[in-house]
Amino acid sequence: MAREFPLEKFRNIGIMAHIDAGKTTTTERILFYTGKTHKIGETHSGESQMDWMAQEKERGITITSAATTANWKGHIINIIDTPGHVDFTVEVERSLRVLDGAVTVLDAKSGVEPQTETVWRQADKYGVPRVVYVNKMDATGADFYNCIASIKDRLKANAVPIQVPIGAESDFRGVVDLITMEGIVHLDDLGKEIEVGPIPESVQDRAQEYRTALIEAVADLDEDLTMKFLEGEEFTVEEIKAALRKGTIANAVVPVVCGSSYKNKGVQEMIDAAVDYLPSPVDIPAIKGVTPDGEPDEREASDDAPMSALAFKIATDPFIGKLAFTRIYSGVMTSGSYVINSTKGKKERIGRLVKMHANHRQEIEELRAGDIGAVVGLKDTTTGDTLCTDENPIILESMVFPEPVIRVAIEPKTKAGQEKMGIALAKLAEEDPTFKTYTDQETGQVIIAGMGELHLEIIVDRLQREFKVECNVGAPQVAYKETIKKAVRAEGKFVRQSGGRGQYGHAVIELIPTEEEYSFENAIVGGVVPREYVPAVDQG
Ligand code: GDP
Repeated sequence: MAREFPLEKFRNIGIMAHIDAGKTTTTERILFYTGKTHKIGETHSGESQMDWMAQEKERGITITSAATTANWKGHIINIIDTPGHVDFTVEVERSLRVLDGAVTVLDAKSGVEPQTETVWRQADKYGVPRVVYVNKMDATGADFYNCIASIKDRLKANAVPIQVPIGAESDFRGVVDLITMEGIVHLDDLGKEIEVGPIPESVQDRAQEYRTALIEAVADLDEDLTMKFLEGEEFTVEEIKAALRKGTIANAVVPVVCGSSYKNKGVQEMIDAAVDYLPSPVDIPAIKGVTPDGEPDEREASDDAPMSALAFKIATDPFIGKLAFTRIYSGVMTSGSYVINSTKGKKERIGRLVKMHANHRQEIEELRAGDIGAVVGLKDTTTGDTLCTDENPIILESMVFPEPVIRVAIEPKTKAGQEKMGIALAKLAEEDPTFKTYTDQETGQVIIAGMGELHLEIIVDRLQREFKVECNVGAPQVAYKETIKKAVRAEGKFVRQSGGRGQYGHAVIELIPTEEEYSFENAIVGGVVPREYVPAVDQG
């Protein structure tokens, strides 16, 4: 079967931001505007747009999916969720691994913030091309030009505005497109009535100044254009766009746009910029991996190459069950087929294949090179695993997850919640490789461990909301050595507590076996008290 959309029309992108910059609002607006199929060449008529609020209610837009598929002017945009909080940087890295480009959202009042720097550096690490969107231009204190300075200053990026705002704060009305030198004026707050025309007088000087800077930057990106520039020739719109696209993909330039997601201004223009400048799967280097024998293996992002895919997020859907969000790097993945999980050395059956849209799920027969979707029915696959064919096995780069840094004890508020809590925690641990849960063998307490306080707070919140188990948390107990001593002595053994703390933050208990016992399997020295001793402790 032929492709409905050529690979060049795919954009796998993430939205990255410091918390509160407006990532959620912006993503919602993107999903709104891309919610219907747009024809190629459709302009800013806005006629087809329904009232945002009404549609939001009607469609119940949700953006909790790890990857959401949208259509925009003949392109497929897969939006990959990149968690924004510092506690989840490992999740950000995981999503950066599978996306080809990103939109960095800044708050126009604050410019570059600490978390912007963190995600920016991570994107640098993976060479992810970026477009910056300066959001909240309508807010008091919004300053586009300050933001540009802070991008250059703090991120050391070659930030080149391709728009300037028309007005700011409560007077923010739209943007000047510095490539076409047109004013795009929004007449309402719903993104419906948009007038494209001459640049308003109030912003003409600024527009000229930044147009000049844009042309100089573009001339630097392309040798032919450098010549043209030196000869004093004008660039065409196509030339400017082509050079910017090449430069962005090469990470030599970062185009900057602006808007107000909240007021529906500039969002559609920002999606245009993402499509225009961020790479498609064929614009990025071939996929590198290793064969199971450790030999390097490289593959084209093409349907004809052997299938290889990476599972980047495990999630649980209340209706479908376990979902493995997967990026196909090469070849075709077909529902009902058998594949190899080369990371784990297991055979897996692809059950159903599902694409998540803003307001519905779509069952599909196959996922092709460059695409992203959710696989249902995988049993052993976890985050970071490679799926491939039996005949051409490959292991894509493995992901390394750091060890948890914080742990607390958790218990259900009611006895009845015990089993439910256990099942829920196991599910959450399967979804999130940085979250761990276990029963402390000394104290019998259930411990949860994660990347920070907020991480664990979210786990507890999810237990309540998604699994309906209310829990209390507290500092993990340290086993009372006296009690254990007594208990163990009662069984004829001696015990000593060493000064240090064990791997899990527990007190290290040493059992000193009697001579006769020394050969006994359970005579552990320098270890944790074996589980069988714990009930004796409880019984006092
Ligand atoms: P996130 O933490 O980055 O996902 O940010 P949110 O999308 O949740 O937005 C944080 C706050 O900023 C919310 O109160 C939003 O209503 C507000 N906000 C988002 N976009 C805009 C905007 O364009 N203008 C203004 N004034 N507020 C905005």
